[in-house]
This record gives sequence, C-alpha cells and structure tokens, in this order.
Amino acid sequence: MRFSLFILLFIITGCKQTDKSAFANKKQEAVIFIQPFEKFDEKLLDDLQQRLSQSLNADIKILPNKDFPQGSYYLPGNRYWADSIIHYLQKQSGEKKYYLGVTAKDISTKKNKIVNWGVMGLGYHPGNACVISTFRLGEKNNVSERLYKVAVHELGHNAGLPHCKENGCYMMDAEGKMKLDDEQFFCTKCRQFLINKSFLK
Ligand SMILES: [Zn+2]
Ligand SMILES: [Zn+2]
Repeated sequence: MRFSLFILLFIITGCKQTDKSAFANKKQEAVIFIQPFEKFDEKLLDDLQQRLSQSLNADIKILPNKDFPQGSYYLPGNRYWADSIIHYLQKQSGEKKYYLGVTAKDISTKKNKIVNWGVMGLGYHPGNACVISTFRLGEKNNVSERLYKVAVHELGHNAGLPHCKENGCYMMDAEGKMKLDDEQFFCTKCRQFLINKSFLK
C-alpha cells in the first residue's frame, strides 16, 4: 500500500513539473535586472521594483550592489559617464533581458557642444540597457515617483520609442528642465507602440 502511494505521488509531482515548464516556455516573459551602483537606498529600490512590476510586462529582479565600471568616473565634473555605464550593462544583456542601472551619484553624457552634461537618465534607443540617477530628482518625498518616471522613459527608449511631443507623456524630452511632475502616462501612440512590443501590461 505504501509503495503504491509513493508511485502515485511521484506521478502527480512529475506531471506538475512538466506543466510548469511548458507554461514557462510558452510565456517567455522579459526580465529587467535592476543593477544598483555603489550604495543605493533599499526602500527606493523596492518601490521601483513594485511600480515597474505593476505596469510592465516583465519580471523585475534586483541585483546585488556593484562598483561603477572602470573608467566611468569623470573627475572634473565629479560625475560618472552614463555612456560607459550603459555600454557595460549592454554587454550582459540579451534577448528579452534588460539592464536598468540605478545610482545616487550624478551621471552625465556629451550633449551637442557640452562635453559633460548632467542627466537624470540615459538609455539605448533601441537597446537593452539604460541607467538612471536620483541626483537631480530633488526633494526626498518626490523621488520615488520621479525615479519610476525616469525609468519608464529610458526603458521606453530601449523598446524603440523616440521622444514625444504630447503633453503629459512619459516620453517627453526633459530639455534640461524638471518636467517629471507633469508626466502622468504613456500617450495613446506611445502606449500602443509598447503594447505591440508586449512591453506593457
Ligand atoms: Zn529621452
Ligand atoms: Zn507619447
């Protein structure tokens, strides 16, 4: 009797596992790895993970802290080159595998004639890597929501979206100003683009 029970249990377990892996293969959900550089506020990380999980059609994972990649520090500006960081992250990415770097330090890129222009975020367009910073996000009680908006903006670039002129859309160009509090949604056009790419829920 005991022997047959064992067999039965084994079969049930075996079947369950098969079903599970078949489902996982069918779904093929994208994964976004959040990569914090140096020390980063854990509450902000958890908030970001939660907010992204609610809106994006992806599994959001937080990686352990890391040092900035070598050569990314720019001494005259006391900033880190965003370009070096996303180049480093892109090398680890793959199909349906995105890397979102986060840092509290100031990050910068070359913009027109300005060699070292401080930014809130930078992402490939299109590509699989971006980086965002809380340094320019202002007061503490606004940071969590603003950080989420910068994240979806840069991930939107990764998915292939350009800047958008529609007022209130997450894909508006910051043009060096703080416009994040006016951004409340992906406009119909940007939203449809992301849905077609299975990026949004
Ligand atoms: Zn942009
Ligand atoms: Zn838009």
